[in-house]
Parts: sequence; C-alpha cells; structure tokens
Amino acid sequence: MFSLKKGRFKTVLFCLNPSGQFLTFTDLLTKSKTMDSTLIRKLPKVELHLHLDTSVHLDLIRKYLIREGKPVPEPLAEFCIAPAKCENLLDYLHKIDVALDALQSPESIEEAAYFLSRRLAENHHIYAEVRYAPHLNNRNGHSVQDILDASLRGFEQGRKDFGVEVGVILCALRHFTPEYNTLVTELAVRNTGKIVGFDLAGDENQSGAGQKAHFDKVHSAGIPITIHAAEAWGPERLAEALDLLHARRIGHGIRLEEDSDLMQRVIDQQIPLELCPTSNVQTNATATIETHPADRYLKAGVAITINTDAYTTTPSDLSGEYELLAGTFGWGLKEIKLTQETAIRNLFVPDGKRKEILAEFHRRWNNVLNEPVVSGF
Ligand SMILES: [Zn+2]
Repeated sequence: MFSLKKGRFKTVLFCLNPSGQFLTFTDLLTKSKTMDSTLIRKLPKVELHLHLDTSVHLDLIRKYLIREGKPVPEPLAEFCIAPAKCENLLDYLHKIDVALDALQSPESIEEAAYFLSRRLAENHHIYAEVRYAPHLNNRNGHSVQDILDASLRGFEQGRKDFGVEVGVILCALRHFTPEYNTLVTELAVRNTGKIVGFDLAGDENQSGAGQKAHFDKVHSAGIPITIHAAEAWGPERLAEALDLLHARRIGHGIRLEEDSDLMQRVIDQQIPLELCPTSNVQTNATATIETHPADRYLKAGVAITINTDAYTTTPSDLSGEYELLAGTFGWGLKEIKLTQETAIRNLFVPDGKRKEILAEFHRRWNNVLNEPVVSGF
C-alpha cells in the first residue's frame, strides 16, 4: 500500500498486486481471504432467523432467575452456551432450559427484547425478524397475549432508542401436541398485522404433518410461514414444509443437497434458506464449518441468507458469521451483499416496506465503502 488518493465521491486506497497491477479497496476485499472485521461489522445488515430466548445476555438471565426466586446454576455460561459441537439438535436445545426458566414474566420478555435490539444495532442491523414460542414463557400464568405484547413493547422501545426495526415471528413447536400449539396459532391469527410471520421449531424428529391444521389456519389468515427443516432430519422434512405447511422460507435446510430433485426445485423456485453457520456446526447438522454447504449452495444458485440463530446459545452475531465465511470460503463484499439482498427480498414485510429497507441498505452500504480507509491492511 503506498498512497491514499481522494476522488470526487470517495476515497480510494491503491495497492499493487504481485504483478504490479493496481488493486482498489473493493478488489482487495472481494479477493481477500480474510476480510477486515471492523468493516464487516459496519456494513448494514438484515437478519431473518434469530430466536429471542436463545439470545438473552447472561447478566439478564441471572437477574431474571433471581427475580423469579430460582437458583442460578454456576457457571451460568456453561449452562446457557452450547459447546462448539453438540451431539445433535436436542442436545443444543437443552441449553435453552435455563433461559426459559428465567424468561417467565412480561417484564423480563420486554427487557430482553429491548436489549436484543441494542445488540442488533451494534451489528448495524436495519431490520431483523426475531422469533420465539410464547407458550414456553407462560408458566407463571401470564397469558400468551401479555407475553407477545411485552416483546412488542421492548422491540418498539428498541426501535426508538437504537433505530433497529424488529418484526416478530411466532413459533409453534414440533414436540408440542397440536392441542397445545392451538394457543400460539390463535394468538397469531388474533394479532395479524402485529406479527410478521409464523414458524415451526423444536425437535425435528417429529414430523410437522400433525400440525397441518394450524398452518392451514395461519396461511388462510395471510400470515407468511417459515419452517425449520432439513437441519436435524433429512430433506423430506423440507418437502413436507413446502407441500403441506405452506412454507415460503426454510429455516436452515442444510441437508437439502441430499435430494438433488428437491434441490433443483428450491433453486428453480428461489425458495430462500435461512442458514446459520455456527449454529449448524454446533447442532451437528454439518460436521465442520469447512463442510457447511453455504458456499456450495450459493455457487449452485440456491437463494441462501446468512443468519445467527442465537446470540447466547450460539456465542456469535451476524458480523461474526460473515467473518467466519470470509475466513473459510474467501467470501468478500460480493457474497455479503448478495446474501443480504436475498434476505431483504424475502423479508416478511409488505413490498413498500421492502423497497424502503433496500434503499436504506444501499445508502448505508455505499456510505460505509466510501469512508476513508484508515486501517485493516
Ligand atoms: Zn432456529
């Protein structure tokens, strides 16, 4: 690197490659194996797949347990953060138990939502869709409506204070009976317009077929649906989500490539996958980050999006996920922008809102890249 040249609209850093040719800042980033982490963090972002109950800061979990009069297991981090490699998804899901013990009042839910908004702002999110199953938070007798309202208040205050907008997705759970999931289905239908989507989460060993009536009802109410599928189970769960449960997006979909016909269909119809790289390794949906299909799927033309899944159970954030992909697969600005634009295209928002978010994304993206380069190489 030998000079900094100020252009009319932007400052451009020039370097020479080994052949003596000039490289611009953008060339460096798109070709570099290790993108600058500060730059990744500053880039604007949206996120489609993030759970509230797995993203509560440890200090808040501790505070809520004490408020609930419950013992705080120590060391708390070991009880709440999943190891780099769990045996399977169920093993990972057990790490949510303590957070759920803690999240049993509207006050806790509201505050957890508010602080998650702050965390999103630290990652320069413009918009995020955050999901949870409110019938896991009603053990103290609070209604699921009170729980939902509390989360909406927390996110609204977060929007005012931190500038990040959050849409709530409600989750039915595979391992709950259809009767018990009625609580969340009816809640969703009653709150059409306040929530943005509906999901099926939980133990993927259970087929979603028994929950079909709920998804018919939610779909009829005009609520968009995403389904966790082909993460802990094979691609047949993904086919079921599309053919039986009205899914417009797929949570994870890691094992899609095991069925080439289905993969071609997903490509042809541009059905988006909500990939969560670190979490996918933790749950053993893929052996290592090197075996993760994100790069293969992107190159094959699958509409992939990159997400975090959790900020606590998975100790990561979206900037960290992109950094990991940059380091593993050599991803640069091109791949980040492409996957972010795919995410925006598939947000559960009206088209007018989508255009606003896309315009804001491009405005902020250009601003970040036009800033003078002061470090990183
Ligand atoms: Zn998930």
